[in-house]
Amino acid sequence: MKRVTFVYLLMCLPVMVFGQTKKTLAEPQVVTPGTGASAPSDAIVLFDGKDFSQWESGNGGEVKWKLNDGAMTVVESTGSIQTKKSFGNCQLHIEWRIPEKVTGEGQNRGNSGIFLQKQYEIQVLDSYNNLNKTYIDGRAGSIYTQSAPLVNACRKAGEWQTYDVVYMAPRFNADGKVEIPARITVFQNGVLIQNNFVIEGTTYSKEGYKPHYNAPLELQDHGNPVSFRNIWIREL
Ligand code: MG
Repeated sequence: MKRVTFVYLLMCLPVMVFGQTKKTLAEPQVVTPGTGASAPSDAIVLFDGKDFSQWESGNGGEVKWKLNDGAMTVVESTGSIQTKKSFGNCQLHIEWRIPEKVTGEGQNRGNSGIFLQKQYEIQVLDSYNNLNKTYIDGRAGSIYTQSAPLVNACRKAGEWQTYDVVYMAPRFNADGKVEIPARITVFQNGVLIQNNFVIEGTTYSKEGYKPHYNAPLELQDHGNPVSFRNIWIREL
């Protein structure tokens, strides 16, 4: 074999080898991205501003929140609401707004929350510019009382804000003990605020995890008229 031919074959070897390896991989499913506010083609649209068809109240009854201008708004003392469908691992997009004329202080200033699997709260609160003083791991973008946001990416009250979430549900052993804890990544208004945080357990329990299966997404009634819109989820 001529030296030139040998060198050429040697150069081609990685391409030949890796080329063959790549052929064994399945082609990725085609997903058409959303444009503007629309969801990707494989997402479940949970709220498009028109109705509560994907939602029920926390006790399974009719939703008593307000529906107007393409948004849903908490009505005090009507209770939290939840999706009719249950979820596990997911990518979630949700938009929220504190009213422009916000009242109250601390935890009573534009408080709501997004509970993954009805257990783990991503806090919603008026936290613009760190003006509303309350405990750091109870501010907007915190995994409530467990993890403060990495930075404060909040917009002013009255402006719409986004959370984009990647959530990996916990896994439990047959004896109910956690085998793999939940993990969560959150972008607020496009800024990373939770980076693969390992969730320590149920938000309102000091005893860590309670075993559970797939469960609804819940939005909190904390007595403040917080609004939500454009909610979609992709199951992972
Ligand atoms: Mg809350």
